[in-house]
Amino acid sequence: MSAQVSGAPSQNAKSEVVRRTENFHPSIWGDRFINNTSKDKDIHLHKVSEVEELKDERLGVAYHFEREIQEALEHLYATFNDKNDVDDLCEVSLSFRLLRQEGFKVSCVQSLHKEELSDITRWWKDLDFATKLPFARDRVVECYFWIVAVYFEPRYSLARKILTKVISMTSILDDIYDVYGTLEELEPFTEAIERWDISCIDQLPECMQICYRALFDVFEAIENELAKKERSYRVSYGKDAMKRLVRAYFDEAKWFHQNYIPTMEEYMHVALKTSGYPMLTAISFLGMGDIVTKEAFDWIFNNPKIITASSVIGRLMDDMKSHKFEQERGHAASAVECYMKQHGVSEQVVHDEFNRQVANAWKDINEECIRPTVVPMPLLMRVLNLARVIDVIYKEGDGYTHVGKEMKDNVASVLIDPIPL
Ligand SMILES: [Mg+2]
Repeated sequence: MSAQVSGAPSQNAKSEVVRRTENFHPSIWGDRFINNTSKDKDIHLHKVSEVEELKDERLGVAYHFEREIQEALEHLYATFNDKNDVDDLCEVSLSFRLLRQEGFKVSCVQSLHKEELSDITRWWKDLDFATKLPFARDRVVECYFWIVAVYFEPRYSLARKILTKVISMTSILDDIYDVYGTLEELEPFTEAIERWDISCIDQLPECMQICYRALFDVFEAIENELAKKERSYRVSYGKDAMKRLVRAYFDEAKWFHQNYIPTMEEYMHVALKTSGYPMLTAISFLGMGDIVTKEAFDWIFNNPKIITASSVIGRLMDDMKSHKFEQERGHAASAVECYMKQHGVSEQVVHDEFNRQVANAWKDINEECIRPTVVPMPLLMRVLNLARVIDVIYKEGDGYTHVGKEMKDNVASVLIDPIPL
């Protein structure tokens, strides 16, 4: 979700701070999701518990649903070919009954997702970033879509809410570093986050204070929630992951302000962190069950191959897609410029090379998912799904920053369109 933009490096004069502007388009959803609360909340929450029977082994309800449709249609065709076959008719009837049940379960899951999104959009609207931080992307719905792809199952409701709030805040942070902040402001801002102490933000510009307070509040709420199950130890891992991310954001900002184009090795060392994926993996564990242990967090912080691979996919696909748009405006170096400069090759050669690296990263992910795995499979699923969703969002361009028809249709198919019963 990088938002590297054009503009002259910031001025030092205190009286007149020159800021870059980006003019990201506003949210395309308005209040579309705010009143999504179901009238039959109790009924559907009860039904949702039935859906809990869906197990992790399934790739997803949608895939399962598709298979059911396929089977039902096959039976139907068979019946048309031999109308007198009573057994076939029975089977058709059974298939459609199963199909309706599946449809009903999917519909219940969708109701739950709508409820969650309603809660989250209300939280977001109260923060009023669209007015207070007008330079930043207003993308809470797209963030929720991103996270539903990481886990859709009802049992991960809390985990989903936590991860959506944190990714939404991360998008704001990204824009503070890439669009709004001067280097002189970003340094104390970064240090303030590293200290994680609300009392040290007085000297920061208003916008940074607003963001800092919201971030602080999100983590405090997470801590209170996790304390109920004696899991509040997890929050410090989440904060550490966030601190590493903002330090890397600051490193990138320094390069930009110094007009420095790093080598590919220097760039990737920082840019794998600014993909946000190591941080999001740590946060994705916070709201999960007892399968998450201290060892699992330690594993994340040791740069395992699978997280590096998902970060490579996130970073390179993002950079390849946002490169064209950025080049029109002039911008800080992305992987594309770094590679072109270092190896003196054309953009097409770079794209071929990066596509090869992305394909290799997918092989690494597959390899790490072969049993026995280093950490339990439900944890690896978060990493795998983070990589998968990049393919959805960045297939036709940067669908997160520039929300087009493709992204709009994707969000609608998951969160608006009714499931046929
Ligand atoms: Mg960035």
